[in-house]
Amino acid sequence: MRVLEKAPAKINLSLDVLHKRKDGFHEVEMVMTTIDLADRIELIDMGPRGGISITSHNRFVPDDHRNLAYQAASILKERFGIKRGVSIGITKVIPVAAGLAGGSSDAAAALRGLNRLWNLGLTLDELAEIGAEIGSDVSFCVYGGTAVATGRGEKIRHIEAPPHCWVILAKPTAGVSTADVYRGLKLDGVKHPHTGRMVGAIQEKSYEGICDNLGNVLESVTLKMQPEVAMIKDQMKRFGADAVLMSGSGPTVFGLVQYESKVHRIYNGLRGFCDQVFAVRMLGERCELD
Ligand code: ATP
Repeated sequence: MRVLEKAPAKINLSLDVLHKRKDGFHEVEMVMTTIDLADRIELIDMGPRGGISITSHNRFVPDDHRNLAYQAASILKERFGIKRGVSIGITKVIPVAAGLAGGSSDAAAALRGLNRLWNLGLTLDELAEIGAEIGSDVSFCVYGGTAVATGRGEKIRHIEAPPHCWVILAKPTAGVSTADVYRGLKLDGVKHPHTGRMVGAIQEKSYEGICDNLGNVLESVTLKMQPEVAMIKDQMKRFGADAVLMSGSGPTVFGLVQYESKVHRIYNGLRGFCDQVFAVRMLGERCELD
C-alpha cells in the first residue's frame, strides 16, 4: 500500500520570545500560517519485519535517524508495536535550514500518512501531541492552517485564515542553525512584536493591519550572522512588496503582496540576486484527516 501526503511550509507573521525557561527552551508567542509551498511525502509499506528507509535526493537532508520524518515513523512503530517496514520518499521543495519548518512539516506529514498507512485511528490532536516529542514546530505542522503557538511552540490555538494574498520568498545562499540564532538572542532592550494586534488584524481580515504588525524578535540576531538578509529585505521593498519580514530563525525573507499584477515584477527582480525565490499563495486552511 502507498500513501501520499503534502507537507506545506509555514511562515511566521509574528514571532516573539518572552523569556528563557529553566529547561533551556525559550517561551515563545508566534503567529504562524501555512503557505502553498510543499514537500511531497510518499510512504510505502514494505511488509513484515522491515525497518525505516528514507530517500530524498537532496544532499542537505539526512537519510537516517536524524531525519525528522524517520523519527516520526520510529516513534509510531515503537508506541503502537508496528512490526512492518516503511519506505519514506521525500520530494524536497522547501529550502532546507531556512526558517520555513521544512523538516518539521515532513515529520508532521509522515505522522498523518502513517496514521492512514497503518490504520492507527489517531486524531490530529493525538498526532500533534506525538509531534511535540519530535520538535517544537511539528505540532503546528500536523494541523497546518493559521494559529498562535505558545509554550516552546507546541501549544496551538487555531485562528481563522488571513485574507488571501501572495507571498514571495527569497532565501540567501547559506542556511542558519535555529539553535545558533536562539543562542545569540539578548532579550534586554529588544523590540517585541505585538501578537494581540496581529491576531486582531487577522480576525478583522485586515490585510493592512497584518502588514503593519509583522514582527520577528529573531530578525536582528540573524541579520548580524547573515547581512544578505537585510539586502534582500531592501530589494523586496524596492521591487514593490507591501511588507517584508524574515521567517522563523531565518534566513528566508518573505514579502506580502496583495495584487497578483505586482507578483511577477518582484519575483523576477529578486531572481537576479537569489537562487531560491518562490511566489506562492498564503494558504491558512487546516489539514484534515482522510
Ligand atoms: P524551523 O523553521 O522549524 O526552525 P528550518 O526550516 O529552519 O526549521 P529545516 O529545513 O527543518 O530547518 O532543517 C534544519 C535541519 O534539520 C537540516 O539542516 C537537516 O540537517 C535537518 N533535517 C532533519 N530532517 C529533515 C527533513 N525532513 N528535511 C530537511 N531537513 C531535515
